[in-house]
Amino acid sequence: MSAFDTRCVHAPGEDRDPFGASVAPLYQTATFRQERATEFGAYDYTRSGNPTRDDLEARLAALEGGAGALAYASGMAATGALAHLLSPGDEVVAGDDLYGGTTRLFERLWAPRGITVRYADASDPDAVASACTARTKLLFVETPTNPLLRIADLRALAALARARGALLAVDNSLLSPVLQRPLELGADLVVASATKFLGGHADVTAGMVAAADPALLERLAFARNAEGSALAPFEAWLLARGLKTLALRVRAQCAGARRVAEFLAAHPRVCAVHYPGLPGHPGRAIHAAQASGAGAVLSFATDDAEFSRRVVEGCRLFSIAVSFGAVHSVITLPGKMSHASIPPALRERLAPPPDLIRLSVGIEDPVDLLADLAQALDHAARERIAS
Ligand SMILES: *Cc1c(COP(=O)(O)O)cnc(C)c1O
Repeated sequence: MSAFDTRCVHAPGEDRDPFGASVAPLYQTATFRQERATEFGAYDYTRSGNPTRDDLEARLAALEGGAGALAYASGMAATGALAHLLSPGDEVVAGDDLYGGTTRLFERLWAPRGITVRYADASDPDAVASACTARTKLLFVETPTNPLLRIADLRALAALARARGALLAVDNSLLSPVLQRPLELGADLVVASATKFLGGHADVTAGMVAAADPALLERLAFARNAEGSALAPFEAWLLARGLKTLALRVRAQCAGARRVAEFLAAHPRVCAVHYPGLPGHPGRAIHAAQASGAGAVLSFATDDAEFSRRVVEGCRLFSIAVSFGAVHSVITLPGKMSHASIPPALRERLAPPPDLIRLSVGIEDPVDLLADLAQALDHAARERIAS
């Protein structure tokens, strides 16, 4: 197999187009004509199959190192699809620092249908093992977690899942396959919000599941066709376009994020920086053993929720917006934004601290990003003195 950067640009089967188009064309069609009433062609209906989506899925599978990949209408549709691998009475053990929408899905849609989800600190394999029961069929983790950047040992969790006859699914949205390929580390399933780094431009909502075992993919593909949750052709085309620059973008973003993390770690108004590339990060060694870079998302604390709000609102280059992974930098208060969807009963245990600020670093010149954060921190400190 060719190197990762080459696979970002060239997809298996990319030379299949009958007219020799250099770029896989957008088949913006819901139906395909049949030669005969009694025989289907290669494609018949876009819900079931579309050449543009097939091109995207071949690319995703090659990047993740899977037997195949399935593209969904969103990251949540991709995670939600995993329910088709479970039955009522089955149990899931999930990390306790997850995307807020994932917790909402588990608690509000899965639990009422008889799938119990138990939460454990995924950075502690013993805690995950203790949460498992004879009914555990799925382990579901993020690493690094969002927004606290805790690290789970994927090889250890894969061994645990195998020993218990459960599947390990990893939400890889935060790093993307440039930096971490969970299937190569022993995971059974990798899911991602392709809205983030895979798309990279915050202009497409999409999700994906990749797996090593074709039988798992077949079950998921059947369910996806049955319920119609596949990604639409235009979104698939945009996403395939974004993937070609994935390696370039993410490496530039990582370099910028490192500069930002070092700047914040040295700033007197910042009391903690969560970034697995910094010395002293508790999961740094495990992260380095399973990922090739620290990523472009980091978070930091100020010990003062009101001060943090002023920092976020004082930034000019970092825009206030949910999500991450785009070529432009964004800043959020996760407790009020991306994680506000955590159900109230679980908020005390699972919600991020109110003073936590999350950054997603884009491809702007880091010098401009540091200047923006410096002025926002100064501005917030001045406002506090004034009030
Ligand atoms: C954004 C996100 C999701 C949900 O993806 P959508 O594309 O918004 O549906 C799931 N997991 C993580 C870690 C995310 O950041």
